[in-house]
Amino acid sequence: MVERSQVGKVYLVGAGPGDPRLITVRGVECLKQAEVVVYDRLASSELLAYVPDSAERVFVGKGPRQHTMSQDEINALLVDRGLAGSCVVRLKGGDPYVFGRGGEEAIALHKAGVPFEVVPGITSSIAGPSFAGIPVTHRQVASSFAVVTGHEDPTKDGSSIRWAGLANGPDTLIFLMGVEHLESIVGNLVQHGRPETEPVALVRWATTPEQEVLTGTLGDIVKRVREANMRPPAVLVVGAVVTLRDALDWRSRLPLAGLRVLVTRARQQASALSARLIELGGVPLEYPTIEIRPVEDPAPFDAALANVGRFAWIVFTSTNGVEAFWERLLASGQDARALAPCRICTIGPSTAAALATCGITADWMPQEFVTDSVLVGFRAYDLHGADVLLARADIAPPLLADGLAAQGARITEVTAYRTVPSPESRDRLLQALEERRVDVVTLTSSSTARNLVDGIGGRLELLQGLTIASIGPVTSATARDLGLTVDVEADVHTIPGLVDALVRWASARA
Ligand code: SAH
Repeated sequence: MVERSQVGKVYLVGAGPGDPRLITVRGVECLKQAEVVVYDRLASSELLAYVPDSAERVFVGKGPRQHTMSQDEINALLVDRGLAGSCVVRLKGGDPYVFGRGGEEAIALHKAGVPFEVVPGITSSIAGPSFAGIPVTHRQVASSFAVVTGHEDPTKDGSSIRWAGLANGPDTLIFLMGVEHLESIVGNLVQHGRPETEPVALVRWATTPEQEVLTGTLGDIVKRVREANMRPPAVLVVGAVVTLRDALDWRSRLPLAGLRVLVTRARQQASALSARLIELGGVPLEYPTIEIRPVEDPAPFDAALANVGRFAWIVFTSTNGVEAFWERLLASGQDARALAPCRICTIGPSTAAALATCGITADWMPQEFVTDSVLVGFRAYDLHGADVLLARADIAPPLLADGLAAQGARITEVTAYRTVPSPESRDRLLQALEERRVDVVTLTSSSTARNLVDGIGGRLELLQGLTIASIGPVTSATARDLGLTVDVEADVHTIPGLVDALVRWASARA
């Protein structure tokens, strides 16, 4: 339990090195109870999803040079909210006490008599090298390591870093905040006796999908960083352990390592695909060209729900359809029991899974998730004179409704949700394509294909040379009609099926 009392309490929580899954269980517990959360740039924004909507969120800094709030102001803020009785989470990148100024904040709280607790985090100084295949110690190679600030300008008089000791002491040296002063860090180490041949690595945005690794030696790393134009944040590792990377770099051996994959599904649906891509080493670029919204006039929907038990069948074709249906069903004062007389068909396993969370198992699900198979499958049931309800998107093609009507069904089709363009995301998409920051384009439905081409204003040349991967034959046909060339098509027409097809494509290419 997180303590609640009149006095309030401040939790200094380490957010971990970047990947939001690398926070501690205790850290998540604190976030879930927070009434105020104070965070900065290195704490993943996804972690804020744990924080209750009602909590006050205070962003206190962008980067090393753009503090939106001074440290004194941050300390004062923590003290103020703590004294006011709030449960405050100060979320800090990595570990709060590793160059996080967590010590200063804790002292300010102590002086003001505000109770606090420190929740350690995984520091980037260890996780960064680790995610690049570099253990900071290794029995035969390194038996000590030091974590050093690279922030202070070492050419300044009165540097607090003891360079002679450092250069000749610990086997592995790890510098945080070192990119800007790389040249003088390297110069000092060499000048104090570290050999120019010493292996070096820089790990940028470690543990995130954008992670980049640059290796070299003390002799050439400055030139390499300049050539690659590597920017902060990065962890610098110096020492023989860097060579272990040849054997231990598990991350770059993932099947989709470094592949930048465009995901244009609406935000609500993108995450499953993105999560799977990340798992396999890919870099998802989410630019939803459309967004899902509730219908403007729910009256026809509500009318169908008022007597929903009269439908012999209800057909759900998407997770959004299920979610929208359920929301209105509950809003109408009914629940799952209202559907007892109906039979239920779901198209696709994720639609079935969404329905399962509402406590309903579908009576029938076609083997293949394309309209034709649904129509063929329904021939096993007599639809003559049967009332069938379709709850779908505003842009759903009429094929399914027409086909079922041809089998004698009386169709009621209601718009369960709307899809609307997302102009801001379109702009970012165009920019990513213009800057050639995309390797693969995923098409997860005919509408994502159409929205993509719409979103780029028909400038198909922007997709030239990129690999286009489609979820199935219907989507591929739409894509071809739009002038696109489909390079990869899933055998199983689901998101995992699409990812599998991409993995096969990537391994054939390697
Ligand atoms: N308390 C933090 C460090 C804060 S100092 C920790 O324990 O990790 C900020 C520096 O940490 C950055 O300049 C960079 O050197 C390093 N850093 C933090 N997150 C990083 C990441 N994901 N990838 C690379 N470096 C990171």
